[in-house]
Amino acid sequence: MPYIPKSQNVIQKIMHEHFTSFEEVYDDRYAKEYGQFRLIRIKEAVQKFSDCGNYLKGIARIKCTDDTCKHEYFRPFSCKQWYLCPSCHQKRLLLLSEQLCENVLFRSPHRQFVFTIPKSLRVYFKHDRKLFSDISRLIHSLITDYYSEMKGISLKTGTVISYQSAGDILRFNSHWHALVLEGGLDKENNFHYISLKDLSDMTELFRQKVIRLLVKKKLLNHQFARNLLSWKHSGFSINNSVLLRPHDDRARENLCQYIIRHPVSLKKIEYIPAKSKVLYHTKYNEYWKENIKLFTANDFIAELTQHLPPKRKHMIRYYGLYSSRSKGKARIDGTYEKFGINGAGQGSKNDTNFDTESVESNKSSNQTWARLIQKVYEVDPMKCPKCGGQMKIIAVITDSFECKKIVGHLKKNKSPPFDIDVA
Ligand SMILES: [Zn+2]
Ligand SMILES: [Zn+2]
Repeated sequence: MPYIPKSQNVIQKIMHEHFTSFEEVYDDRYAKEYGQFRLIRIKEAVQKFSDCGNYLKGIARIKCTDDTCKHEYFRPFSCKQWYLCPSCHQKRLLLLSEQLCENVLFRSPHRQFVFTIPKSLRVYFKHDRKLFSDISRLIHSLITDYYSEMKGISLKTGTVISYQSAGDILRFNSHWHALVLEGGLDKENNFHYISLKDLSDMTELFRQKVIRLLVKKKLLNHQFARNLLSWKHSGFSINNSVLLRPHDDRARENLCQYIIRHPVSLKKIEYIPAKSKVLYHTKYNEYWKENIKLFTANDFIAELTQHLPPKRKHMIRYYGLYSSRSKGKARIDGTYEKFGINGAGQGSKNDTNFDTESVESNKSSNQTWARLIQKVYEVDPMKCPKCGGQMKIIAVITDSFECKKIVGHLKKNKSPPFDIDVA
């Protein structure tokens, strides 16, 4: 029976060797900068992540349903920790982009933007993550107002906006990724196409609105606000405009994956165990004048885990035509069919918040996993490699003694390194 222990990735290794010491010094060294109450959240996520793909922590037993074949194999569980586990993050991104393309975005051109704010304002977002969604809402209304003004009538548009906290070399850099429908619907549901090419006016409006919001929240005083408004290079920007064409499914899905980035790319980091250091390589950054940074292992953990969103906080928001409330209506009046969307497929009741959680709970995790494996590896994991019959998950083993016994049996053979979402 095949078995390949999924090798630990470098972040797992760093956590394994240094998380205990990080935890010990957190209050003294990191709490002030990264948050007094975050350690509980960090610890829980890191624990799950450390067990990701570990056969000794839980195994699913998968067996061919053909009585004469009875071929079987085992898979370890995965941790589902977005923003921390690179492989689980990637998997959920695939699900999310599939969901966006099939069930959310109209088959019309979209653009993808990155909204950024000046460095001096980022600190407010570090300690009040609710502000992130205030800005998401602001971005949506900015675009809606812009379209309505361009056409001189009230238009409703759709946006999907995610908030990101990670900049280059893991720095805290609050910014927003937005997928924006180019155009909108009038009251009679006629679509008006509006190209979003020149964004200078919108950028200026973005600056004014964000500053106004922060003043209203008493985070900025009037003097500082006036200064910010007078800067020639304001530090506010809307850039990276990428066009999503309506009928290129593959390109659409690929682009949708950029909506949420993992804070770190494994290719960029090098762990030096003998020195307890982590070396980070990146492209040369004009502003910071560096392309390399050496972290102590503990500092690296602090910098990485600051990007873990608070638990159960949705980092993606759906607005306007793409909010589920609008989608409910659109389903009834047929707007969705008109724009080539399979709107009936998903059904989150939660207003603007559905994400892959709801997709996964709608379908069985077994099916979801199989579909993803097929997508990534182009093989069907639920098809028996021996007889072509249907495979089925017949048991989930979490008892550590049992797991150990199974691993002992399996060690001599090998298999492709898939893991499984059964938690
Ligand atoms: Zn994982
Ligand atoms: Zn079989």
